[in-house]
Formats: sequence, structure tokens, C-alpha cells
Amino acid sequence: MAVQQQTVLRDAMRRLNMTRDVFASRIGVTRRALDTWLLPDGSPESRAMPEIAGRYVAEILERAPDGGEYTQRVQPAIAFEGRSQLLSVDQFSRDSAEALFRVADVMQPIARRQKITRVLEGAVLANLFFEASTRTRVSFGAAFCRLGGSVCDTTGFTFSSMAKGESIYDTSRVISGYADALVVRHPEQGSVAEFARATNIPVINAGDGPGEHPSQALLDLYTIQREFSRIGKIVDGSHIAMVGDLKYGRTVHSLAKLLSLYRGLKFTLVSPRSLEMPDYIVEKLARGDHVIEQTTDLRAGLTGADVVYATRIQKERFANESIEGYTPDFQINQALVNAVCGPDTLIMHPLPRDGRPGANDLATDLNHDSRLAIFRQTDNGIPVRMAIFAILLGVEHQVQHSMRDAAWRSPAYVGPDDAVFHGID
Ligand code: ASP
Repeated sequence: MAVQQQTVLRDAMRRLNMTRDVFASRIGVTRRALDTWLLPDGSPESRAMPEIAGRYVAEILERAPDGGEYTQRVQPAIAFEGRSQLLSVDQFSRDSAEALFRVADVMQPIARRQKITRVLEGAVLANLFFEASTRTRVSFGAAFCRLGGSVCDTTGFTFSSMAKGESIYDTSRVISGYADALVVRHPEQGSVAEFARATNIPVINAGDGPGEHPSQALLDLYTIQREFSRIGKIVDGSHIAMVGDLKYGRTVHSLAKLLSLYRGLKFTLVSPRSLEMPDYIVEKLARGDHVIEQTTDLRAGLTGADVVYATRIQKERFANESIEGYTPDFQINQALVNAVCGPDTLIMHPLPRDGRPGANDLATDLNHDSRLAIFRQTDNGIPVRMAIFAILLGVEHQVQHSMRDAAWRSPAYVGPDDAVFHGID
């Protein structure tokens, strides 16, 4: 089966660093035509790209007439200390992150339940979660299953042998004899690296305390790129506002570092004083050609942002911190977004949103606003995590040829509000 036209086109836009509008005019077609070629196969408005257009795109990439430095195709690779493991976004260059996104694009028809594959048939994933999780655990499990593998889960310390005093080394070595890959979430920073050093099977960090959450950052960047391309923006030069608990929020630690691989960004870091972004991350951002502003003023911080990335206050990690300044004024809601954000500002959040009284997290009154990208973000978790597994287990080149039609029917929009955003993605 040939590579899908959507994958070819998205790969070309990424490598040429072009928005859809610019790319459409570069290849001499209307934006509307390009949009229809990018729609998933089977959707009523999708159209086949004429062969000649495909040949022209390939020629443009070969000749790289724009002098694009990203037009060289890089093979996807994920390695930590010489092993196939994913512990930190520090393992990525801009090119290798985008090579992973190309694999994620290949996975889209499977994630959308139009196709199936069995490339991981017989493989077993051990999902070891020693901290609360819904999304990450289920989406890693679902991603592995959609590649044809099977999943064994354990959740919580209480029901694990760690409660009996077992070491990380022993646990990791034991599970390595049972499973072909390990996804680990643990409350201590650096602990997942310990799991990784005790085994030769692929280990993925699904959150190590306040440290990192690399797969979340990859799916966030993938989401930002896809959304930006549609609305005429590129990551270089964009303005990202990160809001909330920047001290303990591991998702913003990983995302900030990943975004720093791009050029000329403006980071506005909005938090109560006691929950500011750790210095080591601010220093890393400052080493690039980025502008960094830190503020406690939510309204000023959001103004002019292309992306507002909200986070939950990580109360479970608090020692003695007070959260002075985290008042109801700190809530991102419809009134604030209407007052200070543009018509295509993206509102993102790694989830969960804390909906309890006094939590002041991202408000639910934004649920019908198409700028709210949180469920597009969670949906993107599947193809991105499938890509991570496929690369770590060395099957990424087999997926395309292995795809078959799914036998069951699933709805065009999986959520009741999804049609608010008409899916021209
Ligand atoms: N789900 C994310 C994490 O595990 C964000 C959060 O819990 O607030 O880090």
C-alpha cells in the first residue's frame, strides 16, 4: 500500500516549514484543494491528489529550492544511553521529533479506526503506574493494542511489590522477563531512568514526579504544528503562554524544552510566585534566541499569545508552598479568553482539569469554543504513542504495508461537541 497522500503532504509542509496557505501557493493549487487532499480518506469532502501534484511535491523537496535546512529526511530514532528508550525530550533534535511526527501521521487511519494493523502481534506491554493516571495509562495501552500487541497493567504502590520493599532494579529486571516494553510512571524524579538502566527492553517515561513527561510534550507539539499549519502559523516565532503550576508541572517542563528547539519564540510564563518555572529550564530557554517573560498577571500574560497552555496546580507534590495569588482571577474562562485572546489562539491543557470548587483550573464554559484544543490534543495522543512504540520496537517501516480495512463502523466524530470544530484538519 502506497504512503497516504495526507502523510506525504504533511511531511512536505513540515520539512519546508510552510503553512498550508504558503504551501498551496508554492505548488500552485488553491488552499481549498489542499484542504480536501488533507482530509482523512472516506470523509465526504476528501479528494485524491492528482498524480502530477504528488510528483511536483517530490521534486520540490528534492531540489529544496527554498534552501530549506529541514528538507533532508531524517530516520526516526529514539535512544537513551545507546538503548531504545524514551526518558526525556532532551533525546530529540527538531529533525528527529519531526521524523517521529511523520510516523504518527502514518498511524492516523488506524487511530481513526479506519484501518487495522498487527505489526506488534505477540508483543506484550507492561504498563507500570505507581501514580494516578487515566489518559496516559489508557492511551499507551490503546496505542499498543492498535498495533496488534497486548497489555498488562499494574496501578498504585499499594498493590505492587514495591510496597514490600522491592527495589526499582529488581522490579524492572523481573518485568523485563515478562514483557517486550515497559511504560512507567513514578512519583520520584529520575526514577524511570533507574528502571531503564536495569533492563535492555524499551522503557518509556510516562511521568517521573515533577521531572518530565516526554510523550505528552511530543503530542502537544504535534498538536500545535497541525493546528498552526491550518490557521496559517509556524512554530518558529510564535508566542506561547504557559500558565499555572510551572514548578511541579512536568508537562510544561518537557514542552518548554521541546519548543526551545525552534527559533525565536516568545515564552510567557504565568504562575503564582511560589510556583515559577525551575531555573534550569528557564536557563535552557535563555540559551536559544527566545524571549522569556515571567509574570503573575494572567490577563497581561495571555495577551497576544498564539498558544495558551494551562496546567493544573499539582497539590500532590506540595511540601510547604503557599499558593498566594492563585485566586479566582487566575482562572482561564470564556470571558477572559474573549477579552484578551485572538480568534485563533489555541487553548491547550494536558488534562485532567481540576473541576473542584476553588480549583480555578481551565473553565468548562470554553467547551463549545473551537479554540479549545484539549480533546484534539488527547486524540493525538494515540498516533503519537503508536509512533513511539513502533520506533522503539523497530516496526515503523512495516506499518504502512500491513494496514487492512477495519471491519467495524465507528462514528465520524467521537465526541458530541466535536463537530463544533468542523474537522478540516
Ligand atoms: N496528566 C498530566 C501529568 O501526569 C498533568 C497533570 O496531572 O496535571 O503530568
